[in-house]
Amino acid sequence: MRHSRREFIKQLGWGTAALATTRYWGCRGKSPGPSKPNIIVIFADDLGYGDLGVFGNPTIHTPQLDRMASEGQKWTSFYSACSVCTPSRAALLTGRLPIRSGMCSDINRVLFPNSTGGLPDSEITLAEALKTMGYVTTCVGKWHLGHLPPYLPTRHGFDSYFGIPYSNDMDSRGIKGAFADPKSEYWNVPLMRDEDIIERPARQETLTRRYTEEVLKFINSQKDKPFFLYLAHTFPHVPLFRSEEFSGRSLRGLFGDVIEEIDWSTGRILDTLRDLGLDRRTLVVFTSDNGPWLSYRQQGGSAGGLRGGKGSTFEGGMREPTLFWWPGQVSPGLEMSLGSTLDIFPTACCLAGVDVPSDRTMDGFDLGPALFGENPSPRDIMFFYRGTRIFAVRKGPYKAHFITRSGYGPDKEVSHDPPLVYHLNHDPAEKYNIAEQHTEIIEDIRLEVERHRQSLIPVKNQLDERI
Ligand code: MG
Repeated sequence: MRHSRREFIKQLGWGTAALATTRYWGCRGKSPGPSKPNIIVIFADDLGYGDLGVFGNPTIHTPQLDRMASEGQKWTSFYSACSVCTPSRAALLTGRLPIRSGMCSDINRVLFPNSTGGLPDSEITLAEALKTMGYVTTCVGKWHLGHLPPYLPTRHGFDSYFGIPYSNDMDSRGIKGAFADPKSEYWNVPLMRDEDIIERPARQETLTRRYTEEVLKFINSQKDKPFFLYLAHTFPHVPLFRSEEFSGRSLRGLFGDVIEEIDWSTGRILDTLRDLGLDRRTLVVFTSDNGPWLSYRQQGGSAGGLRGGKGSTFEGGMREPTLFWWPGQVSPGLEMSLGSTLDIFPTACCLAGVDVPSDRTMDGFDLGPALFGENPSPRDIMFFYRGTRIFAVRKGPYKAHFITRSGYGPDKEVSHDPPLVYHLNHDPAEKYNIAEQHTEIIEDIRLEVERHRQSLIPVKNQLDERI
């Protein structure tokens, strides 16, 4: 039986205050098949919209991800919540825009090895939420939400952790030309298990393989309890590394080798789920934290036909190649309605039977209706922040840019009044400004911005304190 949102909130016993601050969420999908399914999120780093075979790349071979897409759902309008690593990851794990957790800044765009902040303890991560229903949780890969003890995955609801605490280009030893012919020793990146450094510098050419082994071991050890596995790949963030077996394989060169190893890794995970008979009890999501790092030219990825890349609020910075897979449950096909990494939190909570936090503003929607083939996604709006400011807003097919700036580089930002307006269904490359013909759209989006601003509560900035 379906309830209105107000009835639903009443049913859960929340007051009117909750109603005022929970504009977005509410379980909307019909609960499918097994309750408390396993949840796996595979999060690539700096993978562009055009970097997978199934998203049109002509020279990168991704048979496993292509198969995942054909068995599951391919989303073509799915957004990360920010165009750089740290805020994007904070949003994924909390279901909240980074402005609400203090995990964004106009000075430091991400956390660095000398940062002293991290994801605040007051935030509720998806791992913590799922643990309340008995899930076993693990994080494998790049964290980048604070490398000091109070901020590590093990303090944020993950039972175990194996990976690097921040980006693989940090702790640089300043070797000239390091990115063109990278070697692990050019960086002093630590590899951690739980809260201990077990290797430094991390042998980066082995990371994708070792992450995969770690994940397979974890899946094989889960017999009785549901699990949440967050696999945040280190690559294709530069410097690029792959194992010997993948060296020189791809027509796309080093970058292609790296993606083909991630493809292999995904295939191993899905095969293991099939072999163990867990495939019909496991939702797997594959997406990326932000778009391709274009300033690294051929070492960076491609946003396909989209404008811009990592760091920018044009589509190439935040629209991600995204797949959902759950045989027998997720209805196979192409999904063009809007989704976001912000939606993974409430979607997973609804499947697990967890109450989404009611004491704070959440920014995600339950994507159940779209995943189970009932209705399009309930999301119709997306805010594009750069640091603490809104640069653009998408509502329905229209996107208004109030401020633009390229992702990286010395150029200055440009303010637009009236904003630039693009119809993303007709013009996904954001080439043809139609602001003059659509003043009513601009007014509507301005009202949305006003309403959104009223929901913001000032919090401590976590990115600007550095040693
Ligand atoms: Mg990234």
